[in-house]
Amino acid sequence: MTLGTGDAHDCGHVTHLDVDTRTLLAMPYRDCTHGGITPAINLSATYAQPTDGTKGIYEYQRCGNPTVASTEQLLGRLEGAEYTYGFATGMAAVTAALSLLKAGDHVVFCANLYGGTYNHARHYFPRHGITFELVDDLNALTAVPDSTAMVFVESPTNPNMRIIDLAHTVELARAVGARVVVDNTFLTAYVQRPLDFGVDLVLYSATKYLNGHDDALGGFCLTNDEEIAEGLKFSLWEMGAALSPFSSYLIGRGLKTLTLRMDQQLRNAEVLVAHLKDSEHLKSLYWAGSYSAEEAAIHQAQTTGPNQGRCGIFSFELADHIDRSRFLEALQIVTFAVSLGGLGTLICHPASQTHESFDDNDLAQSGISPALLRCSVGIEQIDDVIADIDQAFAAATGH
Ligand SMILES: *Cc1c(COP(=O)(O)O)cnc(C)c1O
Repeated sequence: MTLGTGDAHDCGHVTHLDVDTRTLLAMPYRDCTHGGITPAINLSATYAQPTDGTKGIYEYQRCGNPTVASTEQLLGRLEGAEYTYGFATGMAAVTAALSLLKAGDHVVFCANLYGGTYNHARHYFPRHGITFELVDDLNALTAVPDSTAMVFVESPTNPNMRIIDLAHTVELARAVGARVVVDNTFLTAYVQRPLDFGVDLVLYSATKYLNGHDDALGGFCLTNDEEIAEGLKFSLWEMGAALSPFSSYLIGRGLKTLTLRMDQQLRNAEVLVAHLKDSEHLKSLYWAGSYSAEEAAIHQAQTTGPNQGRCGIFSFELADHIDRSRFLEALQIVTFAVSLGGLGTLICHPASQTHESFDDNDLAQSGISPALLRCSVGIEQIDDVIADIDQAFAAATGH
């Protein structure tokens, strides 16, 4: 295993890569110097070098730090990736992936993409001579343009919860020599393992499920391709959006309970969706696999473990007799806030929040209705969340 910031840090006690995910996450990292079973937070900006002419393992924090390396190592093992790089935010990880492109390249994105990714493409690609398109139904596509250098997808998509067939996407890309990037933020390697489908690069906003406590920003890029790894490392070092040791510590700490949290969140989401499915207060409800039986089967087949076929996020439109503002303001346990994957259930309004900078045309192109709300389900006792949503429906109808 090669890490973005050097692996000399691993004392060699973690050698079994085929361990159960939960065991892997619970295995104590050992601080080689003091034997601490949690990693020390190493905040040093620079490192003393052994001699003139030889380099130590670490030289300068932007280019490598032990606390960042320990989290990279844990995540790399979870994902089954040879190369892992930590970034300051999820958008920095997206930017690093997109920095692999050059003038003349074409990018195929799935429609209804994370707002920041779409905005990056819309504003920066034209300046660099890169073209792109949003494809509504990648699963039905039989070919991508010859100039395609990258196919970049999320599955489920954000916020409409469409499912992209990863194996088919890889096939489309291979036919023209393009790379496939998957933003796997919504599911994590615990539920969906894109590298197993031949995907070239997996990236994350670690701000969401990986950290899971809404108290640190971070991002990661993971790959088994050495050339891609070199490009990512260049972006990390020279574009400079490095993950901070303190955030890395928090994300590493959060990671250790990833499986417990996701088990509860994804089971809760299933119960909540079942409760809302036939509600007279909703006009529509979108969850992973709701679009068609075919997409449900793809989602089932490309997810794994005890949460196979699930997702902790869903979206919906309120029925006409429900006043949106009154509904959102009546919620007491659920919070009206952006973000996802944290401990508490959140509801956001993509058109005015995550996708705020989109004009009507962009929203339509991205397949986002102005009335859509997105919910990320937390670890609460789900009956309390159901009761809260039901009382907010009642408050917003004036009963
Ligand atoms: C939040 C998010 C991002 C951006 O991550 P930040 O950590 O907020 O920069 C990228 N992709 C997806 C799917 C996200 O949900």
